[in-house]
Amino acid sequence: MKGEKKPAFVTSKRKYLFCCDQKGMKRLTPIINKVMEENVSFEVVFLGEKEDTDISMWLRNQKMGTYLYIAMEWSKLEDFKHLAMEYGFSEEEMQFIGHGIRLIDVFCCKCHQKTKIDRGKLYKLMTTCSHCHLKLSVSNHYSPLRGSFLGYVTLETGSDRR
Ligand SMILES: [Zn+2]
Repeated sequence: MKGEKKPAFVTSKRKYLFCCDQKGMKRLTPIINKVMEENVSFEVVFLGEKEDTDISMWLRNQKMGTYLYIAMEWSKLEDFKHLAMEYGFSEEEMQFIGHGIRLIDVFCCKCHQKTKIDRGKLYKLMTTCSHCHLKLSVSNHYSPLRGSFLGYVTLETGSDRR
């Protein structure tokens, strides 16, 4: 992944929701300004100011035609995406703007535990399972069931005999 994605303004929605942390807020400002120009209703919720349960309630009480922007650290973003989908937001009704290091989970084929790696290193990485210490080659196969990328046993090409 190169560069960080810029949020895009999606027009003609009934209402806009912005859920963000401080850094995410900065990146959403151009969008919020546009929404204000268009005179459409919107709400901003700061992460940390509200309890997660309040955010759940907030998402649940939204009506159809609402568009959601989520801008926060990658590490938290995935949870919020799931939360939003649980409350009926589809992929077309929301946008994610992550920042910071994006960690992904690698699923160990042997012990079935997860190990976190930097997403930037996906596709070119061998990693070691943090649980059973098996050397894993990180595949680009994402398993929605496991919520992680599948790690396979590394087949050593050279001889490891000494
Ligand atoms: Zn393992």
